[in-house]
Amino acid sequence: MKTLQAILNSVNEDLNVNSLVQSSPVCHKIFDPDFNLRFMSKSGVTALKIEDVEDFYGKVFPTDAAPKATRDIVNKCMHLASKGETNTVEYSFEVDGKVIWFRTTISPFFNAEGNLSYITADSMDITSNKKMEKDADKANQAKSEFLARMSHELRTPMNAILGFTQLLEMTAQSKLSDKELKNLQMISSAGSHLLELINEVLDISRIESGKMDLSIELVDLVFIVDNVISISRSLADLNNISIEYQIIPDGNIFAEVDPLRFKQVVLNLVSNAIKYNKPNGSVVISFEKLADSQIRLGVKDTGYGIPDENKDKIFMPFERFDMNYEQIEGTGIGLTISQKLIELMNGSIGFASAVGEGSFFYVDVPVSEKIPSPIQVEKQSGSVQSSMKKNKIKKVLYIEDINVNVELVRQILIKRPRVELISASNALDGIGLAQSEKPDLILMDINMPGMDGITAFNKLKVIEETGKIPVIALTADAMNTDIKKALDIGFKSYITKPLDVSTFFDEIDKVLAS
Ligand code: ADP
Repeated sequence: MKTLQAILNSVNEDLNVNSLVQSSPVCHKIFDPDFNLRFMSKSGVTALKIEDVEDFYGKVFPTDAAPKATRDIVNKCMHLASKGETNTVEYSFEVDGKVIWFRTTISPFFNAEGNLSYITADSMDITSNKKMEKDADKANQAKSEFLARMSHELRTPMNAILGFTQLLEMTAQSKLSDKELKNLQMISSAGSHLLELINEVLDISRIESGKMDLSIELVDLVFIVDNVISISRSLADLNNISIEYQIIPDGNIFAEVDPLRFKQVVLNLVSNAIKYNKPNGSVVISFEKLADSQIRLGVKDTGYGIPDENKDKIFMPFERFDMNYEQIEGTGIGLTISQKLIELMNGSIGFASAVGEGSFFYVDVPVSEKIPSPIQVEKQSGSVQSSMKKNKIKKVLYIEDINVNVELVRQILIKRPRVELISASNALDGIGLAQSEKPDLILMDINMPGMDGITAFNKLKVIEETGKIPVIALTADAMNTDIKKALDIGFKSYITKPLDVSTFFDEIDKVLAS
């Protein structure tokens, strides 16, 4: 068998190793222990367009002429190498106005006495890889923006579909046959499913494009879980599943999370535990204190469990494994979003599952030592229509550019005979109408061509006749931060489209009664 040394010797005989090194695309450099350049192969000379050693020092080495970032990196690597560590870095510098990227591996060589004798630096031009990465990022960004835009556009027709269906369900019940009512329910449920899908795609694209704005607050996780349990009760009852809650004694658990998004994650886990459970099964929700000031919120079910071959795919989008999943409502993106949201809140999500026994999904987040200042009070949203002054007609102005949305609100308001609706299809006309008609309430769309709803609101506030009229925002932009911004500048409340008819009544009744 030929030894490596023998192979090297024969190569040396056949080839001139020096010419090999010189023609390699890798730029080889050798420095002495004082960082003086002793050798540099041709590719580097060509790429850097340098004439002599001084030029090299001027361009890439830690002289004042080199950019500070480059100097810092090179200094650090050479320092590590002189301590005996091989390290690889990527850095860039400008040559004739063009940015060149290099990936360089720096290695120390020691002599027989153990003293540093040379430092080699082998650099590869990775400018084209960097460009490809940048192009891929750009394409990804464009895709996310497209999805976000599409989802937004899809929500507007959904407002009409779901809104008019709700109206029909409320008003035409006695006139429709059982079959027709069933059909109506199917439109409603398919529409809700589509809406859920649109919202989830919107969430994913926001997360991927880095535009998911969280509003992190100090909140009591117990309060959120209580809320999720009360929302999930009807689904659990429907499936004959019991929900048990093992709460930590005297339990308030404060953490810095986005309350709405955290609730979305817990709701996803609890509804999965109900949906993928066995008949008459149970769901147990628990809190456990972990080391490092972490708290684990666990959701345990007695379902069929997740087979090993599916475990890797559970957080991937659109992966659904349940045998009956076509009959079980879902989109297959809930867990993907939950994982990303929890990571954005500095936590982690995981699970353990055994086939035939069930699954245990958990969320770990850091607990906060801070004491919350404002006491959390759940907003009471009861109908106060009865306290509305009986005989006075209330005028509501709806500023909205999309006709079908106005028509929907007009038909919904038929159920409030003492409310008169007037409308304007753009912000300027709306402001004019508000001045002349002095309505009791303004419903304001936010995204309108020309002047948007926020600008229109600010204008209304400084006009004497309109400054005190309450304004409710009505929009498909359902981001937390948008809602907070609108409420901060003085909108009375914020209703998201597609409209939920009973929420809509709650909100407008409240304002009109006050
Ligand atoms: P969805 O429930 O909308 O399908 P998820 O992303 O929440 O979407 O879940 C993805 C898939 O993971 C589900 O379709 C189901 O097959 C599986 N899964 C999630 N939670 C459980 C659970 N508790 N028990 C068994 N399977 C589960």
